[in-house]
Formats: sequence, C-alpha cells, structure tokens
Amino acid sequence: MSLNFDLLVIGGGSGGLAAAQRAAEYGASVAVFEPKPLGGTCVNVGCVPKKVMWSTAALAHGLADASGYGFDLDSWRHDWGTIKTRRDAYVARLNAIYAKNIEAKGVTHIAENGYFTGSRTISAGGKSYQGKHIIIATGGYPARPDIPGAEHGITSDGFFELDERPDKVAIVGSGYVAVELAGMFRGLGSEVSIFVRYDGVLRNFDDMIRQELDDALSKDGITVVTEAIPSKAGTGHSGLFLETRDGRVFNDFDCLLWAVGRKPNTEDLALEKAGVDVDPRGFVLVDDFQNTGAEHIYAVGDVTGRVSLTPVAIAAGRRLADRLFDNQPDRHLNYNNIATVVFSHPPIGTVGLTEAEARAEYGDIVKVYHSAFVPMYYAVLESEGRAAMKLITAGEQEKVVGIHVIGDGADEMMQGFSVAIGMGATKEDFDNTVAIHPTSAEELVTMR
Ligand code: FAD
Ligand code: NDP
Repeated sequence: MSLNFDLLVIGGGSGGLAAAQRAAEYGASVAVFEPKPLGGTCVNVGCVPKKVMWSTAALAHGLADASGYGFDLDSWRHDWGTIKTRRDAYVARLNAIYAKNIEAKGVTHIAENGYFTGSRTISAGGKSYQGKHIIIATGGYPARPDIPGAEHGITSDGFFELDERPDKVAIVGSGYVAVELAGMFRGLGSEVSIFVRYDGVLRNFDDMIRQELDDALSKDGITVVTEAIPSKAGTGHSGLFLETRDGRVFNDFDCLLWAVGRKPNTEDLALEKAGVDVDPRGFVLVDDFQNTGAEHIYAVGDVTGRVSLTPVAIAAGRRLADRLFDNQPDRHLNYNNIATVVFSHPPIGTVGLTEAEARAEYGDIVKVYHSAFVPMYYAVLESEGRAAMKLITAGEQEKVVGIHVIGDGADEMMQGFSVAIGMGATKEDFDNTVAIHPTSAEELVTMR
C-alpha cells in the first residue's frame, strides 16, 4: 500500500468522514485515521444513542397520557437493559455501514491514532503517511470539573454505558447535555436534580425558551439547583454526594453526571510539528474556509469549537472537499442561521437570533411576536402540556431574524422554517402562507 495520499483525514467522525467521502467522489486518494468504531461522537456516544433514549422517554410520557385517551393499560415497567441492547446493536449496524460506505468509495481506513511528525506527515501505528492536504477532524471529549472527587462522576459517555436506570441522579451543568439527559432519566422514572452555576439552564437561549423550559422541568419533577458551583464530590455511606462552594451538601445519589461542556482532542496531535495554532482552550484556529494557519492543513467540526453540531461538521467537511478537489474556490460554510434542537421534553427548536441578540444588533427596529398555548393533544388530558413560540423581525420589511419554539413537535418544525429564514423571509411571507390545521406549527404563520 502506498503511504502517499491526496488527502489525509485525522478522525472518522461526522466531519472527517464527510470530507473524506466527498473528496474520494472527486477522485482523490484518501486515508482516514480512526482507531474507534467509525462514526465518531454522534454515532457512538452522541446524537444517535441519545435520540433512541429520547424516544424511549417520549414513549413513557405517551404511556402516562394513554389513560386520558381511553386506553386501559395495566401498570407498565420499563427495562433499561432491553433498550440498551437494542440501541447498541443499532449503533454497531451503523458502524458497519460507515465502514462499508467508505470502502466502497475507495477510502483507506487506518485504525490507529494519527499525529503530526511534519507539515505534511502523519504517523500512525509505526508508519509515516504523506498527504498533499491534511484535515484535522478529531472532535472532542466530555470535560470534568477540576475538583476533588470528580472521578466519582460519569459523563455523557458513561451515560451510554449504564446497564440499568439509577434511582437518584445529580447532573452538573446547564447546557444541551444536562437538559437532555435529565429529561431521559426523569421520563424513565429517576429522581433528578440539575446543578447550575447561575440562575438556570441554557443561558445562551432566548429568555422565553428558558422560562418555559424552567416551568416544564419543574412540572416534570426535575429540580434545578441554582447558584451551585461544585467544589467536591465523593462517595458517602449512602451513595454519592456533591458539595457546592457555598457549603451546601447534596447526598444519596446513585449517579453523578458531569455535563460541563467538551474539550477538543488536540493534546496528542503534536500540532506544533506542523505549525497549527490553537486557542487557549486547545481548539484549532481556522478561518471561514476551515484553513488553519499552516498551508494545506485544515480543521472541521467540534475540534474548531464553532457550533458543535453534527450537520455543521458534515457541511464544513463537504464544502472543504468541494473547494479542494472540485475547483470550487469560494465554497465554504456560512455559520449564520443554523437551526438547532434541544431534545428536552418537550423539545426546543430555534434558529437565528434571540430577542436580546436581535435588539443588540438592530435596536428599536426589532418587533417580537409571541404565542403560548395548550396544544390540542392535551385538551382531553389532565396533564397540561404547553407550547410557546416567538418570532423576531427586524426593519421596515420585517425580515424574520429569529424563531424560537418549545413544545411537542418543535424538533421537526424548525428545519423548514430555517429554509425560509435562510431565504430572507419576511413577516408578510409568513402571513401569506396558508396554515396547516390542526397543528402547533400553524401558530407561526398566524401570529399578529
Ligand atoms: P467527532 O464525531 O467527535 O469525531 C472525531 C473522531 O476523531 C472520533 O471518532 C475520535 O475517535 C477521532 N480521533 C480523535 N483523535 C484522533 C487521533 N489522534 N487519530 C485518529 N482519530 C482520532 N449534534 C447534533 O447535531 N444533534 C444532536 O442531537 C447531538 N446530540 C449530541 C449528544 C451528545 C451526548 C453529545 C456529546 C454530542 C451531541 N451532538 C449532537 C454533537 C455532535 O455529536 C458533534 O457535534 C459531532 O459528533 C462532531 O463531529 P466531529 O467530526 O467534529 O467530531
Ligand atoms: P455546553 O457547552 O452546551 O454546556 C455546558 C455548560 O455547563 C456550560 O455552558 C456552563 O454553563 C456549564 N459549566 C461549565 N463548566 C462548569 C462547571 N465547572 N461547573 C458547573 N457548570 C459548568 O456543553 P454540553 O456538554 O452540554 O454539550 C456540548 C455541545 O455538544 C453543545 O454545546 C452542543 O453544541 C452539542 N450537543 C448538541 C446537542 C443537540 O444538538 N441536541 C445535544 C448535546 C450536545 P453556565 O455558564 O451556565 O454555568
């Protein structure tokens, strides 16, 4: 086997595989370094197994509502082990599909860690590989706080290893992972507390979403402990404990889970050998075209610290391959208006600016439309679900610059609206759209 390639890709996750396959489609010779099962975080310990668990919890919510719809269900119980086995089998199937796909495209898979030994050279498994171009797509790993006893907690990676449901769970953190995993544990019956450093969860989201989510968490029985900066963790005689800096002690947990963000996989890449710069947190510095400061070396995905989402890594990787191997010199990813979903219960979908961001950017010409209601699904139930939506416009033309939705179906709603925002839709375009009835989504085109 030749050790010279047009493209070397370090990391076989969402971004790396997307770039490798697109480049191979253009006829480039490509090798991907990946020691773990192919697919990266998303497939193995992220989006995919997470969505399975979210669906499991959503089913539990449905079962709780079933009697209101006239179903006579005897008491039911859930077996965590069964869904874990089925979920793991699904992930293994995906790993195999990825391996088959890249093989079919002629991409060489080197099942080893790669690291730089020169500006065009990657060492892996005792061999040296030369690349005309090199993409760093090594993603990241879940962080743990730097406090005594942090090793007693698991991270999102450990969540996917759990064989059974813990009864009492403490989750530390306030982002996507904290909110999503809290909802899954709770939906399946755990007692859950989320510990946040400030006044609540999802601090970068629109205030309306934060308020509504806060209410939904509380209605669901999830406790949010605010102003709680962890200072120590450990095991006591009755389980795990967490201490906070202000002296509070929380006891008796069966599971302590750190959800305090992610760190980039750059420590072991010997980036200095290639002259690739990182920011103070270790994320690779890139420009709008995914170029690092070193010629012919690029980075995509989570390792760049810019919008850490799978479709973003994929889109950046594919556009980069288009540019390098299909002579499309201006091709690059526009990082604005990327829609995102938090798989809470109910889910959150959002695209564009928050109200605060819009007011900071556009000032007085911002107009906000708001709607909160009980979706029809709950009309015959005693449980009271809610949905809330916000449409933010700017300027005389009322260009829509932000949409924020929390409520059942928000996850599936946002993709189409992100197309509209990307095309520069105005409030008038929304008003001129005939609603789909009866849905929650119709509220977004009937707001006044
Ligand atoms: P990764 O997918 O992390 O791939 C990097 C790969 O590089 C890994 O396989 C790693 O083994 C490999 N690697 C590292 N170092 C080396 C080396 N030296 N040599 C060779 N290989 C190496 N995003 C969404 O869009 N939707 C979701 O619902 C969603 N849910 C998530 C849930 C969780 C719990 C988590 C943690 C993340 C979630 N994400 C979600 C984020 C998403 O998983 C990431 O944004 C995405 O996987 C990033 O892709 P990537 O290619 O940049 O990195
Ligand atoms: P996030 O960066 O989203 O959130 C982590 C939060 O934890 C921080 O924002 C911070 O919030 C808090 N925090 C940080 N350090 C500490 C500490 N020492 N003690 C207590 N709290 C702390 O990270 P996640 O791990 O939740 O997710 C990583 C990324 O993965 C996400 O940003 C997202 O891009 C992606 N992801 C996407 C999903 C999706 O698309 N549905 C699902 C899961 C992950 P504060 O400042 O408020 O304290």
